[in-house]
Amino acid sequence: MTGVAPEQARAVPPGGTAAALVFEGPGEMRALCRALDWSATPLGPVEGWPQSLRTVARTLLGSRSPMFLFWGPELVQLYNDAYRPSLGGGGRHPRALGMRGREFWTDIWEVIGPQIEQVMTTGVPTWHEDQYLPIERNGRLEDVWWTYSYSPAYDDDGSVGGTLVICQETTPRVLADQDRERLLAELRVERARLAEVFRQSPSFLAVLRGPDNVFELVNDAYEQAIGRGRAVVGKPLFEALPETRGQGFDEYLRRVRETGEPLVFRDLPVLLERMPGAPLEERFIDITYLPLAESGPAGEPIRDAVIAHGTDVTEQVHVRREVERARDRADRLLALTAALAATGTPGEVAGVVVAQGVAAAGAATGMLALRAPHTGEDGEAEMAILGHSGLGGEIAARYARVPVSAPVPTAASVRTGEAFFLEERPALFAAFPAMPHVWESLGAHALATVPLVVGGEAVGAMSFTFTAPRRFPPEDREFFLAAGRQAAQALERARLAEAEHTARLRAEALQRVTAALAGAQTLADVGRVFSRELTRLIGADTAWVGAVTPDGDAVEALGWSGYAEGEAEGWRRLPLDAGIALTDAVRSGRPQWWPTREALADAYPERAALIRSLPQDGVTVLPIPGAGGQPEGDAVRAVGGIVVGFRTPQRFDADTRAFFLALAQQCAQAMARAGAYQAEQAARAEAEAANRAKSQFLATMSHELRTPLNAIGGYAELLEMGIRGPVTDTQREDLHRIQQSQRHLLGLINEVLNYARLETGTVRYELEDVPVRETVAAAESLVAPQARSREVQLEVAECPSDLAVRADPEKLRQILVNLLSNAVKFTGARGRVEVSCAREEATVRVVVRDTGIGIPADKLEAIFDPFVQVRSDLTRTHEGTGLGLAISRDLARGMAGELTAESTTGSGSAFTLTLPAA
Ligand code: ADP
Repeated sequence: MTGVAPEQARAVPPGGTAAALVFEGPGEMRALCRALDWSATPLGPVEGWPQSLRTVARTLLGSRSPMFLFWGPELVQLYNDAYRPSLGGGGRHPRALGMRGREFWTDIWEVIGPQIEQVMTTGVPTWHEDQYLPIERNGRLEDVWWTYSYSPAYDDDGSVGGTLVICQETTPRVLADQDRERLLAELRVERARLAEVFRQSPSFLAVLRGPDNVFELVNDAYEQAIGRGRAVVGKPLFEALPETRGQGFDEYLRRVRETGEPLVFRDLPVLLERMPGAPLEERFIDITYLPLAESGPAGEPIRDAVIAHGTDVTEQVHVRREVERARDRADRLLALTAALAATGTPGEVAGVVVAQGVAAAGAATGMLALRAPHTGEDGEAEMAILGHSGLGGEIAARYARVPVSAPVPTAASVRTGEAFFLEERPALFAAFPAMPHVWESLGAHALATVPLVVGGEAVGAMSFTFTAPRRFPPEDREFFLAAGRQAAQALERARLAEAEHTARLRAEALQRVTAALAGAQTLADVGRVFSRELTRLIGADTAWVGAVTPDGDAVEALGWSGYAEGEAEGWRRLPLDAGIALTDAVRSGRPQWWPTREALADAYPERAALIRSLPQDGVTVLPIPGAGGQPEGDAVRAVGGIVVGFRTPQRFDADTRAFFLALAQQCAQAMARAGAYQAEQAARAEAEAANRAKSQFLATMSHELRTPLNAIGGYAELLEMGIRGPVTDTQREDLHRIQQSQRHLLGLINEVLNYARLETGTVRYELEDVPVRETVAAAESLVAPQARSREVQLEVAECPSDLAVRADPEKLRQILVNLLSNAVKFTGARGRVEVSCAREEATVRVVVRDTGIGIPADKLEAIFDPFVQVRSDLTRTHEGTGLGLAISRDLARGMAGELTAESTTGSGSAFTLTLPAA
């Protein structure tokens, strides 16, 4: 504290002249200055101030620039209205006015103290721009910036009396600057981040400008999308990406530029050469073309650039397409199942599988080959193409049949049971190097081959080729495998159905051949019928049947079929040592199976020329097994041989062989039967010859016997008539007995002769329509005298006059006479014999009923046997041979009729003759 004491200062009256002059004017600071008791400050009353101070103070208070003055050695403070806000609130103003600087600026005195000191001592001003001088203001330490200068304020004597501070608080500007800086920094960061985001954006982005669509900007994604190593910025579209010419992009850009409207595309295909020299690759993009909003110098809108923004959706499109393909494949598998259900034969199955497989997989060719069930004698297992598509005739013919060991995909698949999926040509050529010409000619780049497995065994394979490289993802492979499984199942089903069908056909054929052979009576018949049926029913083209001659030296033709005129003539008799297939088969008893004529020619090279001249290709030679002979192994003792020829090559599988052996067996049986029949015929002829001799003998005998018997009868009659002299009663009685015996013997001989004729079958029937009534009447009249003499009543019931039978009239009368005379004979006096007749449907019955002695039940059948007579007293009294009924029944049956008897012992008998009605 310097200068005047406060009491002194207060003693100076306010509003003194000097003060009034210095602080005159408006404003708060002037008012405060006027009010302040300056005498209480080191400056003392205003009247005591030097002129220079008054001038500075007055200038300061009148300035609108913020100013502050430190005056005197105590650096007493004075400031103006413009400076006042820099002190803020919080009691610093107006406390600062008149205070010593060191006491007031305690917070920053370290900084400003030396600066003021410098001005006060040296008079050199200072300049501070945006100096950071935080000050206590508004009750807290505030960040404040100042641009200020400390300048010397000269005293009246020219020395530096104070320091004038002309200052400007720059806090708002500094802060604003700082804000801007920060903002700018932030913006830079943000922009860098944006650029990074933009650059790294998964979406691609490019800005193309001007009519040539020059790339102005592209991001990483864009560069990635167009392919590596292509610097496009600064180049026109078609120079940067020449392959896009003609794909419409320039047109899209032009449209957007012209209309200012965005364009949006989804799944837009674009062909890109993504690697230098690589083939064009199809990519898919979702892309939006937006006009870039810009304005010219005068603010006018410019539409010169286009933002192309989008994403590469190739993978999604592929995935979507794959999903669609998967659905499509599922549909196709279903369709395949449905189509296969309608197939009947393996050929149909193959056709369906190949056609559907090719369509479903988008293949260029397809084929299905099956392992042949059996091959020839020599043969290795083979595979045969069952169906194909797109192979071309030449390849199909060349690979129609291949050994299972062949280096082709289907055979390899059958051998290994594995599938092949070869995606590119090098893999294809490496896997199947033996057939590059095939791959070339099919244009094949990729291949899929899957085995067809039935019951764990690969029975075939199907194969597809593709004219472009092709990936086979797992789903694709699964599709092929599934199709393969279906095909295998369908094939198995068809094969079983076909086998069953064949078996049925063969069983039928065998039956029909057997039936046809049943009528064959001679070996020649068998040969003719069997060879004919082989070509007619079995489908052979030629057939030849021969039998071993009785001497066993040769095979002789029994019959043949299917050969051209004269073609088989040379084979009428083939010596067993001829050394040809037939005689070898007969000698060995072993069948031969030749799939082709070449196979046969190879086996018989010296006969190759003849074999090649024959119409047959596939041929089997079968021995005809003889009866009884023990077969050795599969060989039989042959009684003949069969040659069955086909114009096409044949596969004699196990079933086919069994079938042909069964046929040969049938032929053998027919031959045995025919042999037996022929032998029997011979025996019968012999027997007939013997019979004829017997009849001859009997005829002779009867003639020889009857002649003397007739003589006996004649002479006895002469004696009885008394021509040789008178006859006594006793003599007459004897003569009667002689005559009776003579008649009996004669009848006996006649009947024996009759029966002998019947037996030998020499009786001839002359059938005609015979009226029954007349015949019965004639027989009755013959028996009537006998009946009368025995007092038997003979009655004939009224026979319908139109009743007629189909019979030999003589034989019919013979039967009736026999029945009537028996009835009379075995009926005592006063008995009755009754004849009745009636028609019954197609037959006529004639019944002879008597009231005689009857026949015991156990004899009812026996009486029809020759020489059978029922022993009884009555019988003994009657003459007879026991042949009558036997002859009668034979005669009845000989005319398709029948003779039966009914009887009750003691009360009578009834004999019924039935004959066909006329
Ligand atoms: P034959 O009359 O010559 O003895 P048949 O063959 O005519 O021979 O008859 C065989 C036997 O059947 C007779 O001997 C007789 O015993 C018996 N017989 C045939 N007809 C009659 C009949 N009507 N009544 C009873 N017995 C009969």
